[in-house]
Amino acid sequence: FGLLQQRDPEIAQVLLDELDRVRGGIQLIASENFTSPAVLAALGSTLTNKYAEGYPGRRYYGGCEVVDRAERLAISRAKELFGAEHANVQPHSGASANLAAYAALLQPGDTMLAMALPHGGHLTHGSKVNFSGKWFDVIAYGVRRDTELIDYDEVRALALRHRPKVIVCGATAYPRLVNFSIFRDIADEVGAWLLADVAHTIGLMAGGVIPSAVPYADVVTFTTHKALRGPRGGGILCTREVAARVDRAVFPFVQGGPLMHAVAAKAVAFGEALRPEFADYARQVVANARALCDTLAEEGMRPVSGGTDSHLALIDLRALGVTGAEAERRCAAAAITLNRNVIPYDPEPPAVTSGVRVGTPCVTTQGMGPEELKEVATLVAQAVRYPDTVAEVRRRVSELLVIHQPYLSEL
Ligand code: PLP
Repeated sequence: FGLLQQRDPEIAQVLLDELDRVRGGIQLIASENFTSPAVLAALGSTLTNKYAEGYPGRRYYGGCEVVDRAERLAISRAKELFGAEHANVQPHSGASANLAAYAALLQPGDTMLAMALPHGGHLTHGSKVNFSGKWFDVIAYGVRRDTELIDYDEVRALALRHRPKVIVCGATAYPRLVNFSIFRDIADEVGAWLLADVAHTIGLMAGGVIPSAVPYADVVTFTTHKALRGPRGGGILCTREVAARVDRAVFPFVQGGPLMHAVAAKAVAFGEALRPEFADYARQVVANARALCDTLAEEGMRPVSGGTDSHLALIDLRALGVTGAEAERRCAAAAITLNRNVIPYDPEPPAVTSGVRVGTPCVTTQGMGPEELKEVATLVAQAVRYPDTVAEVRRRVSELLVIHQPYLSEL
């Protein structure tokens, strides 16, 4: 880092300021985490220099015998961690993993069935502003108005009516478990492939605290940087049956050279997730999300679907008369980072929203437990309800952070 400060003080300052930012506040973004220093070391390594188009032992460049070892380790650890028949660790991101998975299973114009964005699905699940909505004929399912849970009857009825080639399950803002077994049955009924996009929950599956999608789905796409606590990136697990087409879809169809420093960092993260401590971490993430969600509910902030089974909660703010955008601003002023989020059947547009999404992967990595999360919830509630008291909230936030800062001693 000293060298960076000498050579490029402006960028060095950005790195320092970002570290200060995360150390000076509470991070409740459900899709973020703090990687270990070991993951950061692999990311900041000379492996970034190497071109390695292709796969281990089958590269289109010379000199790949060393980086091959990193990719082989990443693949074997991913297969062991998730009990998968095949793993591709090259996707640069969750969106690239989905693009490759669709490319493996679909032709442009084919029909797929996926969760609507306003009900918790991801942009890559068929939004009109994304390639998925432009290139495929996407039928969307959602959650029931009364329970705010996935309407499996609707999924089945839509599948029978439209006969999709792929059914996508998994979401970006759905606090409850997805029933992969029901999705498998529906896919079998209509002869569709089942694709589980578990970008958000893969870390909880790795820790064994929620059921895995792997035994049910033909293809599982994921990100490595959320609860899994790895580098920013994506991955695909699949059955032997579709392995060759998935690999061909990632390279050469969607991507060129893999980011070998990121592949090595994914191997490190999979290795960390294989350790028993990671199961404790994943359990704690869920216990913390429950404590956060229950206390927010006591504070008059309604959890969509009545609660959470995962690392995140979606909060309906309408009873407080505060929009999601305003709540996001008020919390930011109090050094609490969270994001506005549409809630199902939201009357507000996406830039405003009636809700916020909160998650516990970061605060759990920082060592907080349910008691601290109750405190965090009261701070969120106070920041949102009484913006005049922001100075007091900031003071209490800094007290909480005295012993719970990320990267306190490691960097
Ligand atoms: N799929 C889901 C369900 C997600 O939640 C996300 C990101 O939040 C993605 C895909 C895309 O991941 P990335 O941002 O790495 O492209």
